Amino acid sequence: NPPEIDLKQYIRSIPDYPKPGILFYDISTLLRNADAWQIATARMAHGVAKWQPDLIAGIESRGFVSASPLASAMGCGMIMIRKPGKLPGKTISINYDLEYGQNCIHIQEDAVKPGQKVVIIDDLLATGGTLQASINLLRKVGAEIVGAAALIELKSLKGREKIDVPLHSVITYE
Ligand code: 5GP
Repeated sequence: NPPEIDLKQYIRSIPDYPKPGILFYDISTLLRNADAWQIATARMAHGVAKWQPDLIAGIESRGFVSASPLASAMGCGMIMIRKPGKLPGKTISINYDLEYGQNCIHIQEDAVKPGQKVVIIDDLLATGGTLQASINLLRKVGAEIVGAAALIELKSLKGREKIDVPLHSVITYE
């Protein structure tokens, strides 16, 4: 098991970012610390290993930062869920609602071989809208979504209830 340290001390919260009234959890301060970042990745790997994924999918762009070392550590391939206009070749997209307005994400239509097992990663789970949209998008290209993980889960927003696969979070806030 990864060593016992409280990773929360490496997360910085910034009031009124990106908008007044929002408390933003900044993972930059965790990333900057080599030991803390290694432990965070190890804890994520420990939480998702039981699902035995073939591929790790990251959600642009802080999700890439978490997904990439996880894929390497677990011996999995890595796929990218991206904003419009970023992926070459044929892509499939999905729109979803944000608190204010809409968002759109894409994936390459040949990203997954039929039945490949995928775990989806984002840095933070808030309302769960982004993660569930990503799950639905990956299913459209034939993935079997065996689980999802986030570095941070904001429990009070109940995003977990929206997610229809098992979810592992490394750091939680009430
Ligand atoms: P949701 O769709 O669950 O409401 O929002 C999660 C998405 O918004 C994630 O992609 C995440 O990167 C971003 N996000 C929302 N709030 C925060 C925050 O406080 N800190 C960070 N790092 N990302 C956030």
